[in-house]
Amino acid sequence: MTDIGAIITSPVISGLIAAALYVATYLSFLRLLRYPRNWILPTLPASLATAGLAAITVAQVSVSSDGLDMTALVVSAGFIAVLFGIIAAPAVDFRPGTRPAIGFLAKHGDYAGLCMLGPALVAGYVVPNVKLQGVLAVAMAIEMAWFLRHRWTGGRRLHPLGDHDLLVLKTQANGDLEGFARRHGIRELVLSDGAVGWLGCGKQTLPCPFNLHLSRLGLNTAPCCREHMKDLCYYVTSCLRDMGAVHWLDGGSLLGAVREDGKLLAWEDDIDISVLLDGDTTWASLVTGIGERGAQDGYFVDVFKKMGYITISYDPPKSWPFRWERNRMRGEIRLDLVAFRHAVSHGQSMLERRLPKGAMPLTESGGYGVPQEIALPTSTINFLGGDFDCPNKPETYLRVLYGDFEEVEYTYVEAVVAETRRQADVAGKAQMQAPMDG
Ligand SMILES: [Zn+2]
Repeated sequence: MTDIGAIITSPVISGLIAAALYVATYLSFLRLLRYPRNWILPTLPASLATAGLAAITVAQVSVSSDGLDMTALVVSAGFIAVLFGIIAAPAVDFRPGTRPAIGFLAKHGDYAGLCMLGPALVAGYVVPNVKLQGVLAVAMAIEMAWFLRHRWTGGRRLHPLGDHDLLVLKTQANGDLEGFARRHGIRELVLSDGAVGWLGCGKQTLPCPFNLHLSRLGLNTAPCCREHMKDLCYYVTSCLRDMGAVHWLDGGSLLGAVREDGKLLAWEDDIDISVLLDGDTTWASLVTGIGERGAQDGYFVDVFKKMGYITISYDPPKSWPFRWERNRMRGEIRLDLVAFRHAVSHGQSMLERRLPKGAMPLTESGGYGVPQEIALPTSTINFLGGDFDCPNKPETYLRVLYGDFEEVEYTYVEAVVAETRRQADVAGKAQMQAPMDG
């Protein structure tokens, strides 16, 4: 007769259980990272679930029939805390602003996890606890796989850089492109015989790390990323048209259409489209419609119900269990689809959304809104070479969002590099006497 109790408590099996618990904690934590990537606080149930799994993992490692292994408890809890801090850095870094420590970890995010290899080996050797060793081994295997995925550059394609991209790059690099690329770890930049190319991202590769390129270094959005944003814009718009949903370009996309003559802002990091929940278009029908089409056509769709928006990303959904590893990526080619509803605020007919946007005023019910007649009925505008739906009065709409929108503001670009590129843009405009290559 087999004694099940003996099997469960056998060192190998309990080590495997501890490793499996770590994997569950890791996946739950990755799922949690979708919130900071979107600049919002994680929900309480999701946070508690992750914290609970981490506690169970640490308990599995440190508690046995012999009692509590205090060393294993401290080592496992400390190891998970530090490693998860490293893993979270790129997601936390999505929010612009200067946080040098997080910026540093995010910049080295593709291999920072491997720095834990040394401590893991020492701890695994010094602490004779099979369950701890199981956790350390599986954690390091995951970090190694993540590192190798970054190193793999297959699927990347060389893009020429436009005149304006090159001008901005050279200005920020102060002429020394090679040193600049080396100093900031810009692996996409290819320099040979005086020619400058960009080894661009593709649908199957990791996206270019735009937090680094746009915000920290003040460069233009990479040509590959611009292409993919354009693809997303056309794709989602065609879905919305098929679904008969009233929608319009919003935010930076509308600004590009109006001010930059139908181009993306030079440092654009996403596409903004708003959709009206009205008539046959309900939140549920929108989620189902976009979700089904996205899954079928190879786009990643994430739904934030409480905040009333859906993100559609260019990268295809990966198979379970590692589909949430995308939340470790430093960049993301994404379209934000934000739901608006009819509302009456201070006696005026409004369209309102849950999330704040620019200077959009608060409504009586606690949302953020624009007077209905500014947005509806929608009009059309040229954007990225096609006709897209836009608010009825696009300039007025932009003034609600940004005030004086004609004034170029280097949103998300850090102050020091913004000043350098302001000069580059002035010089570029004078030199070329032509609009930006957006
Ligand atoms: Zn790219």
